[in-house]
Amino acid sequence: MIPVRGIDGVRVAVLGLGRSGLSAARALLAGGAEVVVWDDNPESRAQAETEGLTVTDLTRAGAFDGIATLVTSPGIPHLYPAPHPTIAAAQAAGVPVDNDIGLFFRSFATPDWDRLDTAPRVIAVTGSNGKSTTSALIHHILTQAGHPAQLAGNIGRGVLDLDPPGEGGVVVLELSSYQTELARALTPDIAVFTNFSPDHLDRHAGLGGYFAAKRRLFSEGGPDRAVIGVDEAEGRYLAGQLSEGPADDRVIRISVSGKLTGAGWAVFARKGFLSEYRKGRQVASIDLRAIPGLPGAHNHQNACAAYAACRSLGLAPRVIEAGLHEFKGLPHRSQLVAERGGVRFVNDSKATNVDSAFKALLAFERIRWICGGLEKDGGLGALGPALPHVAKAYVIGREAAQFAMGLAGVETEICTTMARAVERAMAEAAPGEVVLLAPAAASFDQYDNFEKRGEDFMAEVRARL
Ligand code: ADP
Repeated sequence: MIPVRGIDGVRVAVLGLGRSGLSAARALLAGGAEVVVWDDNPESRAQAETEGLTVTDLTRAGAFDGIATLVTSPGIPHLYPAPHPTIAAAQAAGVPVDNDIGLFFRSFATPDWDRLDTAPRVIAVTGSNGKSTTSALIHHILTQAGHPAQLAGNIGRGVLDLDPPGEGGVVVLELSSYQTELARALTPDIAVFTNFSPDHLDRHAGLGGYFAAKRRLFSEGGPDRAVIGVDEAEGRYLAGQLSEGPADDRVIRISVSGKLTGAGWAVFARKGFLSEYRKGRQVASIDLRAIPGLPGAHNHQNACAAYAACRSLGLAPRVIEAGLHEFKGLPHRSQLVAERGGVRFVNDSKATNVDSAFKALLAFERIRWICGGLEKDGGLGALGPALPHVAKAYVIGREAAQFAMGLAGVETEICTTMARAVERAMAEAAPGEVVLLAPAAASFDQYDNFEKRGEDFMAEVRARL
């Protein structure tokens, strides 16, 4: 655990008693704070009480008198579409709002680091897609190369549950826009921005708000090194703003859509090969095509980002290459579930938005595509250039017919349930084709989360093999 610093004897409220809230409450107590907790769900409150936490009704009038800070969880809206009433009450009372990420950054460095030869470092990864894969990949490469690394944030452990790092320790953090928007301290040594596409627009009041939330990772204190995907205007803007000029190697630019052979530091992938350039000269090249855990250009982008982050820490290209080869991939992201009669079954349930589904469709040639669910703002139009890869779409979800209407020019079948979609796709798939779950939608109309949806897909596939 990382005890929170600078709150000894101070009264702090914690709203939301999921994983991050509970771990924040414990870390605050360990730091000497007087902690009161609340959750709208009575079961969560009861659970907290059994853990010995002090439950106090934060919804009553005057609840924030004497409270120094409110710590909240990423799932609770703090601004848009409207602040949660308890957060609104804290704001009205002038109480600052923070989250576990902010507490972590203010508590991470400790005076006993003076004894260390190499101070611990934090690599923080944000972006619209590929955060988990990139974070897990960096962690994997470092671990395999013998570096003491820990993985936390949206993936792995809660940040405040980490072990205090020792000599040369590296913490790899995956951070969502919900987390970066609120954290009152954000000071990674290396910050990574994978890519940018519309998502969570309701929580950020549109695209500008979403970008502003992510950008905070690069502006509050400023990382020593920034790894930026420059395939979109937002990344190019950010890279430009963070550097003194094109040759400034505090920024490593990454791309999967063009060569970056200019004066600066760059890592890009083209036709399945990763290249590192520095000061206009090629430094390294890696063949990514034979790496089973990283299929498709989108995963090559993740490979470039992870490679650049590890190079920033001084790892040699060959050491990173060895790590890339051993990476098995994460569940529910381009996950090969089974292969039968020349047909592959791939679970990409994490493709909850249009951009990630688009990338998944580009990764395979001929696809029996299982899609649908709770549609996000912005429509399906951006999928257009990938649709020639689709032999047929098998649409699931409560609004399957409505969803199918957004897929002009593609043969569709309304299946509604996963069982039906898998059955139909399997019956029609020919050798060489891929049955792909990449919904381009959230899962909440039919499942608790994308993991449950992916597990259902895998169970339906395996039951029929
Ligand atoms: P995040 O943590 O940002 O949601 P994940 O690594 O969990 O990212 O991947 C989310 C989804 O996006 C999956 O469907 C995955 O296949 C897809 N994906 C992974 N990397 C990328 C990328 N670089 N660009 C676009 N889509 C990606």
